[in-house]
Amino acid sequence: MSAEEIMDSEDFRKCVEFHGHLCPGLSMGFRAAKTAMERLNALRSEDEEIVAIVETDACCADAIQVLTGCTFGKGNFIYKDHGKVAVTLLSRNTGEGVRVVLKPDAFKPDPAHMALIQKITSGTADENDRKAFDGLHLKRTGDVLTLPEEKLFTVQKVNVELPARAQIAPSVPCDFCREGVMGTKLQKKNGKNLCRACAGG
Ligand SMILES: [Zn+2]
Ligand SMILES: [Zn+2]
Repeated sequence: MSAEEIMDSEDFRKCVEFHGHLCPGLSMGFRAAKTAMERLNALRSEDEEIVAIVETDACCADAIQVLTGCTFGKGNFIYKDHGKVAVTLLSRNTGEGVRVVLKPDAFKPDPAHMALIQKITSGTADENDRKAFDGLHLKRTGDVLTLPEEKLFTVQKVNVELPARAQIAPSVPCDFCREGVMGTKLQKKNGKNLCRACAGG
């Protein structure tokens, strides 16, 4: 498929809609999620059938949530602050796991693109800079979408212990602030049941 066809696909459009803009990082997440799901033979997670562990909170993480169905709110989207474009998908059905990580030389920063980002974030970009930026941004997004998978990622089978399923426990008021707290998150302090905020302060 051409970059245009991919950008026009329903899956990609859903990612852009969720993320808010189109960018190379989102496209990397799109490719990484597709690659990992293919290897695991996994379908989008309606409940907690698959678990995703991402190693960055950058743009790519949003496409991974949309495509895998592993979301922050379901508790099957786990974030590790390692600053790596990497995702591990684990299947609760098969016990299999796969880690997809961006190759270090796969997608070098383009100095012209970087310079334009700098201008835009510092507020010194003019109309022409913005146009040039839009063009380059779109081109790089297209490049990510069409690069052969083996150029982009290293894919490894992994054996990672599955995290516990999400917990649901009734709320109990904190003895200090009186706000409701999931019972399992209360802490005992001087004979009182406190929320973590009150126990810490
Ligand atoms: Zn983005
Ligand atoms: Zn409290």
